[in-house]
Amino acid sequence: MIGEDREIWGEGAACRTADPDELFVDGAAQNRAKALCTGCPVRTECLAYALDHRIEHGIWGGMTERDRRALLRRRPLVTSWRRLLEAARSEHDRLAHPDGARPWEATG
Ligand code: SF4
Repeated sequence: MIGEDREIWGEGAACRTADPDELFVDGAAQNRAKALCTGCPVRTECLAYALDHRIEHGIWGGMTERDRRALLRRRPLVTSWRRLLEAARSEHDRLAHPDGARPWEATG
């Protein structure tokens, strides 16, 4: 773990109990590693962290280093990926649940 903010969201990581070597692989093995990220509850935080810290190796937030380099090249003016991705997630939630209802908060 690098940095204090990662220590906070890292507790919810789907890969928390995985062998770290599974996320730092090459070639076809990267697709298996990326599958681990699907549905991870902290995927947004993980990806934002890797982008904001310019982490060059491994799978983070379901993206390989190559995916992240391409994204950074496409969006060179982004100063905070965390802010950008959290805003995008909030907007997605708002559009998906315009009445404010959150299915995961529904009570019996
Ligand atoms: S998104 Fe992937 S690499 Fe990041 S914490 Fe979740 S499982 Fe681990």
